[in-house]
Amino acid sequence: MKSLKHNEEISVASTVESIHYHDVIIIGGGLTGLRAAFQVSNSGLSGALISKVHPLRSHSVAAQGGMNASLGNVPGDDGASDDWKMHAYDTVKGSDYLADQDAVEKMCREATATVYELEHMGTVWSRLENGKIAQRPFGGAGFPRTCYAADRTGHNALHTLYEQVLNKNFPIYEEFFVTSLVKDKGRCIGCTAMEIMTGKIHGFISKAVLMATGGFGRVFNRSTNALINTGDGLSLALNAGVPLKDMEFVQFHPTTLYGTNILMSEGARGEGGILINSQGERFMEKYAPNSVDLAPRDVVARSIEQEIREGRAFDGGYVHLDLTHLGSDRIMERLPGIRQIAMDFAGVDPIEEPIPIQPGQHYSMGGIDADINGVTKLPGLYAAGECACISVHGANRLGGNSLLETVVFGRLVADKIIDDINQTPEPDTQAVQLAINQVESKIGEIIGRKKDANIFNVKDEMTETMFKKFGIFREGQTMEKGLKEILKMENKFSNLTINNKHLAVNQTLVQFLEIEGMLKIAEVVARCAIKREESRGSHTRTDHPDRDDENYLKHTLIELEDKNLNISYKPVTIGMFEPKERVY
Ligand SMILES: Cc1cc2nc3c(=O)[nH]c(=O)nc-3n(C[C@H](O)[C@H](O)[C@H](O)COP(=O)(O)OP(=O)(O)OC[C@H]3O[C@@H](n4cnc5c(N)ncnc54)[C@H](O)[C@@H]3O)c2cc1C
Repeated sequence: MKSLKHNEEISVASTVESIHYHDVIIIGGGLTGLRAAFQVSNSGLSGALISKVHPLRSHSVAAQGGMNASLGNVPGDDGASDDWKMHAYDTVKGSDYLADQDAVEKMCREATATVYELEHMGTVWSRLENGKIAQRPFGGAGFPRTCYAADRTGHNALHTLYEQVLNKNFPIYEEFFVTSLVKDKGRCIGCTAMEIMTGKIHGFISKAVLMATGGFGRVFNRSTNALINTGDGLSLALNAGVPLKDMEFVQFHPTTLYGTNILMSEGARGEGGILINSQGERFMEKYAPNSVDLAPRDVVARSIEQEIREGRAFDGGYVHLDLTHLGSDRIMERLPGIRQIAMDFAGVDPIEEPIPIQPGQHYSMGGIDADINGVTKLPGLYAAGECACISVHGANRLGGNSLLETVVFGRLVADKIIDDINQTPEPDTQAVQLAINQVESKIGEIIGRKKDANIFNVKDEMTETMFKKFGIFREGQTMEKGLKEILKMENKFSNLTINNKHLAVNQTLVQFLEIEGMLKIAEVVARCAIKREESRGSHTRTDHPDRDDENYLKHTLIELEDKNLNISYKPVTIGMFEPKERVY
């Protein structure tokens, strides 16, 4: 088969042909993917974005509390003004010194320009009385640094970027589920994807692929994440021989609504909300005397869990997030979404009574191993956003830094791709056709299997094992048991089939493929967590309670080699801030 040149581009977001050529393929339509798409469209290259859902349904839309940038619009307690170095310091300390400090520096230096850029594109930031962009205090931050659009920041920013990308007529293949990465002569030259509407497998040929597929939160139960956050990008990368990094570091958010685990934004505590146990005590005074309720998430989540374990929680295992003292005006202006969610899903009006909350899985610090430019081990494959581990969050992410990461690195990694593309050889179509055939025969094989058990039971077992055995507090023997359970589930799953044998609009098939990947991610998290015999950031081991810089101030890498998952380590980039004890 002959290779395609760009001027022979077959189709733009067409579903008639099954092989499509674009210089750059972006997988993911969240903030990262859309910001990258905007950059690629400005460069004059041909690009396209693929998303398994409509881009506005990406999890970015759910972000509530805000985006960090040292604008310095609100002075600190002592009247001092914020700057990027203070932002970098808080981020590195928050990361328990595992973040790569060159990447942190880059992100924090770019932050203010990023907030202003979004503003100029149309994001409606909340304002101070003097008309400047408002900033609220957030956990682990030395200054009120988090810019917000009430408690709907992600919604605002995602709509802004989506409009910008639509305005450029950038091709978007929406409701296309990416099924594999295509490799040829040691390079990533595209991907395959199932058009969900028809079940047809398409091939995408490109000189560069940017992975922007978000986190893997749904591997755990009690997650604040959208149901689509199944970590597909990570399993696609793993299967293509690309290492994942720091996968043991999973963030548990302190305040999720009891019963449904919908997020109650840290912005609620930023606005002055406090945590109270069943004895009426403001227990965070004991765990973090200086920062109290606004200590970083790992600290507050552990403290709540401790209160629950020691019997100072309400029946069922929750504590209270009390906003009643803030008054209705403030709640209606700054936290309208939180109030609505609490009323709709827990029957509680936060103006009148405290909100029942418990910790829940929230964020994936680990991800596809990528350097400061988003470059991965596989030439042609780049990664950014929550699916990547460029390592700006290390062992614990500070609230407000993820939205920032998506937009900063969405742009910077796109710039790197644009720079690299001239030296990239023209890809060949043959490998793509072969990859399409492989996916088709894999799906045929799954559908043809006989063993008809409920795949969702396996998923429920997995998420429960992950929360119970790899949750806030971890311990060696319990984790070993958890790993065995996961391996059994993987084994069982590999024989299962699905009831619906049709290809068109087969959501069960999509979920089958998601769960298959999730089980592998669960195994990866388990293996990495067992190997790290220390406590750092979100990874708290009751059998190894201290941080051990001598042996573990290093990133964990895990990759698939001959079907085995192999673990290795690589150094952390230290910069301005030498590791020291983390006190709040
Ligand atoms: C409830 C909630 C509130 C949050 N609030 C904040 C906040 O206030 N501040 C903050 O800094 N961070 C916050 N975060 C974290 C932050 O929102 C996310 O980390 C960030 O938005 C992730 O963006 P992303 O672009 O990397 O991925 P996402 O927005 O998750 O997008 C992933 C995209 O990948 C696509 N995709 C995935 N798999 C496939 C596949 N197989 N084929 C095709 N497409 C695929 C999806 O369709 C989607 O378009 C919050 C997170 C949650 C869950």
